[in-house]
Amino acid sequence: VGVFFRPLEKIAAVIEVYPKGLAGFRSYLDFLATRPDIADRAGAIELAGVRGDVRYEGVSFAYASGRPVLNEITLDIRAGETVAFVGPSGAGKTTICSLLPRFYEVTGGRITVDGHDVRDVTLASLRRSIGIVQQDVFLFAGTIRENIAYGRLDASEPDIVRAARRAQLDQVIAGLPAGLDTVIGERGVKLSGGQKQRLAIARMFLKDPPILILDEATSALDSETERQIQESLAALSVGRTTLVIAHRLSTVRNADRIVVVTRDGVAEQGAHEELIGADGIYARMISAQFHADPGIAQAS
Ligand code: ATP
Repeated sequence: VGVFFRPLEKIAAVIEVYPKGLAGFRSYLDFLATRPDIADRAGAIELAGVRGDVRYEGVSFAYASGRPVLNEITLDIRAGETVAFVGPSGAGKTTICSLLPRFYEVTGGRITVDGHDVRDVTLASLRRSIGIVQQDVFLFAGTIRENIAYGRLDASEPDIVRAARRAQLDQVIAGLPAGLDTVIGERGVKLSGGQKQRLAIARMFLKDPPILILDEATSALDSETERQIQESLAALSVGRTTLVIAHRLSTVRNADRIVVVTRDGVAEQGAHEELIGADGIYARMISAQFHADPGIAQAS
């Protein structure tokens, strides 16, 4: 279980939301993110007014030739649906999610958003439509306000305040010496893991993307913080197509659909009760998790 996207991909993810005004920074990131294999096609269209229907049609992928990771995966995710990916480490959950924003290119099949092949739309418009919340939150030295507005630098003060409130970050901010103007980072206030997560969620409320990818934290947070984050994430995912790399039973139970990924591909899919009833891999996973760590199951 690791960092969702490796550093280069992370930079690629944020690059197009950075303001044109910061040309120096942008071109530096452009340089770092150069992937000659992943670029706009001639005549690529702008993805706009996205509903959020996502389809994987016979998707295959290999990081290195001859070593396939995904073999003809087919998934039909409806706009607004929350899908939780579960399965053993290394099965390909993260890989499935990282193909949607085109951090890697499929080697077979295709992925569509509202019927458009993701390779036929501009990278900028595709990635504007997709919000990513990772375990490893990218913060820069600056104020809380700047860090929240990172996804949308034209955001107004009321928008920023509202996003902070929806992410349950407002009380944290109220307790800081200069509120939203408090400097964080190396020379400023250090935020806790849970506070960083909430800041990442506030960013997403502000960015307001129709599609979300959540890489659920595996690190232990105290149960009150955990509950607040779960609540904020649940609120964030309302009305958005959400793909979650799930580690918590409560997330999985609440998902509209659970997709069980093994090294052989999608082994099972359905809602929690359905899969428990089917008494297959998922049912065994849940029972094993419960016996191994009752605390996790009780947290649901
Ligand atoms: P986890 O639950 O541990 O995060 P996962 O189900 O998300 O696992 P992936 O991270 O998608 O699995 O990995 C699927 C396979 O691809 C693994 O064999 C992994 O070693 C390999 N892999 C993942 N990222 C890369 C990469 N950047 N380069 C090469 N191989 C990779």
